[in-house]
Amino acid sequence: MAALEIEQIQVLKDNFVYLVREPASGVVAVVDPSVAAPVLERAQGLGWRITHILNTHHHPDHTGGNMEIKAATGCVIVGPGHDPDRIPGMDIQVKNGDTYDLGSARAEVLFVPGHTRGHIAFWFPAETTLFSGDTLFSIGCGRLFEGTPQQMWASLSRLRALPPETRVYCGHEYTEANIRFAVTLDPDNKVLRKRETEVRALRAAGKFSVPSLMSDERAANPFLRADAPEIAAALGMAGRDPAEVFAEIRRRKDVF
Ligand code: ZN
Ligand code: FE
Repeated sequence: MAALEIEQIQVLKDNFVYLVREPASGVVAVVDPSVAAPVLERAQGLGWRITHILNTHHHPDHTGGNMEIKAATGCVIVGPGHDPDRIPGMDIQVKNGDTYDLGSARAEVLFVPGHTRGHIAFWFPAETTLFSGDTLFSIGCGRLFEGTPQQMWASLSRLRALPPETRVYCGHEYTEANIRFAVTLDPDNKVLRKRETEVRALRAAGKFSVPSLMSDERAANPFLRADAPEIAAALGMAGRDPAEVFAEIRRRKDVF
């Protein structure tokens, strides 16, 4: 098993599209193409032939490039079978617990509803790589457009249980704003403060703050810490159900 080669492309304002190459087979997948042109251009520049699109959810900033990339490359589109009608051009539907092989790299599909009702994540356990879409961001999480706080808390609880060395490739560069909010709830969190310093330096140098490490998310992302006593206490919700605490954190972030 060789490591995946991952090329990170920032498009629109703050969306991340990923080109993922499995070197043994030369298979190349695009994760969540918002748009087509910059993705096709980057692939061509690298000499990579796109064979697949992997979609985490139906939002146009994750699927807008599907049809044009498919027309240009003849690639196969793999997306959530939990959302069969909203993924443009979907050829292969995958559901929770399914696996999908990109050459010798095997993805496990995790159903993580909340941001949308059909959202999935692609986890490559042997490559310690997660494509989390708009479910888990660095130090944040997606808005609840179609799900309940209970669903999203369950989804995030599954993701935080993945191995700590997992690299989290998410759908947006939102980390700085997420940290500004997180420190209001968790000002004494050392891992959060370390991440704040690190992200500030990365962004000042014009670099991405993504991927992040699951160990850092687990320790510093308030949305993964709704069951931590200090977070509940900071919200005046000591002893309350974690899903209720999560709902309150999400509500506050929505108006922050
Ligand atoms: Zn979205
Ligand atoms: Fe998005």
